[in-house]
Amino acid sequence: MSRDSTRQLSPNFKVREFACKGSDVVLLDDELVVLLQCIREHFGKPVHITSGYRTAAHNAAVGGSKSSQHLLGRAADFYVEGVDVATVAAYAETLLPSRGGIGRYPKDAAHPKRRTGWVHIDTRAGKSRWKM
Ligand SMILES: [Zn+2]
Repeated sequence: MSRDSTRQLSPNFKVREFACKGSDVVLLDDELVVLLQCIREHFGKPVHITSGYRTAAHNAAVGGSKSSQHLLGRAADFYVEGVDVATVAAYAETLLPSRGGIGRYPKDAAHPKRRTGWVHIDTRAGKSRWKM
């Protein structure tokens, strides 16, 4: 972060958007940035990353799984301004038809306290889908 925080990774994303608070090191998978840039361009709306790389300590503090792809810099939680979770996830599905992780976290009747819904994507080799 001290060296590269403002470095542009793609037309719409900088290193600092993937950083973990308190950590100078940021692990980040190139393919993840490509996926997010595709999503940015497809919807033409700002993409807000709420969680990218996580250190083990931060991951534990937020209750993340011990095998979380966030620990490897291969995952991002994000929302697209003005676009609902189902629509974003459906588009992500076209980018990762047979592999990768896609998690849906809608703000809905079951989760009214969420500030916004969000989508998790990751670049794991296998395929995983979930809704929480
Ligand atoms: Zn996530």
